Amino acid sequence: MSHNNTSLNTLDKTHFLHPFTDFKEYKATDTAIYTKAEHIYIYDEAGKELIDGMSGLWCCNLGYSQPKINEAISNQLNSLPFYNSFFQCTTDVTVKMAKALVDISPAQFNHVFFTNSGSEANDTNIRLVHRYYDLLGKPSKKIFISRHGAYHGSTIAAGSLGGFSGMHKQYTGLSYVEHIGQPNWFTEGGDMDKAEFGIKVAQELAAKIDELGEENVAAFIAEPIQGAGGVIVPPETYWPEISRICKERDILLISDEVICGFGRTGDWFGAQTFGFEPDLMTFAKAVTNGYQPLGGVLVSDKVADVLSADGGEFTHGFTYSGHPAACAAGIATIDILKNDKVIENAAADIMPYFQAQLRTLESHPIVGEVRGMGMVAALEIAKNNSAKERLAPDCAGGAMVKTHAINHGLMVRSVGDAIVTAPPMVCNREEIDLLIARLTIALDYTAKHYGIKT
Ligand code: PMP
Repeated sequence: MSHNNTSLNTLDKTHFLHPFTDFKEYKATDTAIYTKAEHIYIYDEAGKELIDGMSGLWCCNLGYSQPKINEAISNQLNSLPFYNSFFQCTTDVTVKMAKALVDISPAQFNHVFFTNSGSEANDTNIRLVHRYYDLLGKPSKKIFISRHGAYHGSTIAAGSLGGFSGMHKQYTGLSYVEHIGQPNWFTEGGDMDKAEFGIKVAQELAAKIDELGEENVAAFIAEPIQGAGGVIVPPETYWPEISRICKERDILLISDEVICGFGRTGDWFGAQTFGFEPDLMTFAKAVTNGYQPLGGVLVSDKVADVLSADGGEFTHGFTYSGHPAACAAGIATIDILKNDKVIENAAADIMPYFQAQLRTLESHPIVGEVRGMGMVAALEIAKNNSAKERLAPDCAGGAMVKTHAINHGLMVRSVGDAIVTAPPMVCNREEIDLLIARLTIALDYTAKHYGIKT
């Protein structure tokens, strides 16, 4: 794949500072510029086709060919391209989108606060929760507990909530965020069985709250399945125990559904799949199928009732909170998911098929574990398929599999040695077979490079 002489490539390298990129290294590497997408395929400027095994950036759960969403956005731009929701007003579609979200959410959620992104939504969580406890007369409850390896966004507040040490090193984080371990049985489980390990890791939350003092702790935030941190699927025992601890100790529970929401785990929200009842839920990405930037927080009655009492103005919001074009895209996305029963159908067929086919790779000599649920999964690249030994230092094995996958027409992501894939839910079985075939080629090439027979 070589595009280095094209003018777009030169312009890109000359002018565009990409997110999460080593700017110096980027100038020296071959990159792809995508110009077209259809269904589950993306095409670069040279016309090379790839299966998008990442749904954009975990956004396009319905793939790229949804004319009803295009139409809704364009109609909205023609009738009311923008109006705001400050100062005693709003737009018709913004209200309708709030209602659409409440209708598909668990019963405790009847209110929505809109933002433009997941990061802003998690900042909003901090503002909402601090306000909630202030109004309850518990102003010392300020600390948020999160998990190592979590990703909650890239603003200073959301980055502080996240557990990426590489990010923390580049700014001064919030002083009131603490981190506990993640339920990564593959790397941390040792000889424990999964159920026992799930309880043990959840108990870290109880210990942390007790150490900090319940009167100082406001909330625990986590993704039902940790996504960007490497698709860490918790043992079944984990979430019930976390939920029990939060209730027992008067700590608000926030489910960051930015990746898990809108069908990824086989339900509307990951919290439903894992059977817990959060007080707040962060959403973004797939809420508009990635077609427009939109995020927000679903706020439970427990929290909304306190904020809506006699507290005065909540001094927070964004110019584009509830942008009409984004809300129109969101309404159309929810309509398709609902009317076409996309989530139910996927949960009954393509999701179990995807998981089962991926697990056939467990016997590949450089695959240590296949984990996943619904339409999200990770393969841990390891030295042999029965040991937790790394294939190569510095996660070079994972990086090589990713490069070969992309070169052979499959977009995946590598997180350490984990190869992550989260394709659109609208794939059919043949397309999953093709995804697996391309992934297998990448595994075979990598094994060969390291002298391992396949
Ligand atoms: N939370 C989670 C779980 C995420 O995966 C992300 C983005 N990958 C965010 C929050 C931040 O969302 P955004 O990039 O829209 O700010």
